[in-house]
Amino acid sequence: MNCSSPSYRGRFAPSPTGPLHFGSLVAATGSFMEARTRGGAWLLRMEDVDALRCSRETAADILRTLEACGFAWDGEVVWQSRRTSAYAAALERLKEEGRVFACACTRKELADSAIAPDGAAIYPGPCRQGVPAGRLARAWRLRVGDARVGFDDAIQGHVDSDLALDAGDFVLLRADGLFAYQLAVVIDDAAAGITDVVRGADLLASTPRQIFLQQCLGLPMPHYAHLPVAVNAAGKKLSKQTHAAPVDASRPGPALHAALAFLGQQPPPELSGANPRELWAWGLANWQLARVPRGPAYPAVTDGIIVP
Ligand code: GLU
Repeated sequence: MNCSSPSYRGRFAPSPTGPLHFGSLVAATGSFMEARTRGGAWLLRMEDVDALRCSRETAADILRTLEACGFAWDGEVVWQSRRTSAYAAALERLKEEGRVFACACTRKELADSAIAPDGAAIYPGPCRQGVPAGRLARAWRLRVGDARVGFDDAIQGHVDSDLALDAGDFVLLRADGLFAYQLAVVIDDAAAGITDVVRGADLLASTPRQIFLQQCLGLPMPHYAHLPVAVNAAGKKLSKQTHAAPVDASRPGPALHAALAFLGQQPPPELSGANPRELWAWGLANWQLARVPRGPAYPAVTDGIIVP
């Protein structure tokens, strides 16, 4: 259903830890098509808050590739590395309200903790009542208590989460002094007035944490749609770690065609050699979120080629 809603504000938020690959192109394509076919704005945010893993050169390379693919974003690119004072202010507020606690535990001390469905350690609680005498606070964690969060995902359906079981008291300020992704994304989406988050289903497990943070900070909750994740022949998510091939910025048509096809849109085969302008014109006329397969990982892809 393509309805025009001028107040729709979507975004694409890549982390510049490696060049744009087919997996991130899918997220860019899905969020772009959904925003544009709903008459909305589409914003771009560089999630370079993790200064240890991100680089300026990689970010510039991603921006060049997005431009070559014909993505046109609204307004200036937002850089998380320039927004740390907003994250610090939110953390201060949570401190004042007693919603966070300092934590002295090391990774080694937490090695035997229960593991959440997304692989994160569930905090067992030693510092919840205060940092033990003689120990140094390293990180700040949000208390989840017995919070439960539910939301309707436009692709994945209804999701319910018991935060104590699914995430535990999670980190907002890391031991290395960097703000955590969960805090940055919530602050930035709210500051940009994002109404609709369309992103990969690898982040579905993070969404209840983000909704809980929105509730703690009195921020509005956007609508969510989690796209299937592109995996390689071994079933692993395409990423820098799995050596996913970068999108070829000199000839982006085939990858864009494959991204639309991956998202269930059935672009005509004769458009596979088309330029981005023609592909986006087809996409604007034909995109339907209802056709996106439910995933979460679907189908196998190698270097941008869909494996039947
Ligand atoms: N920066 C995240 C990533 O590249 C995406 C975050 C989001 O869309 O909320 O996986």
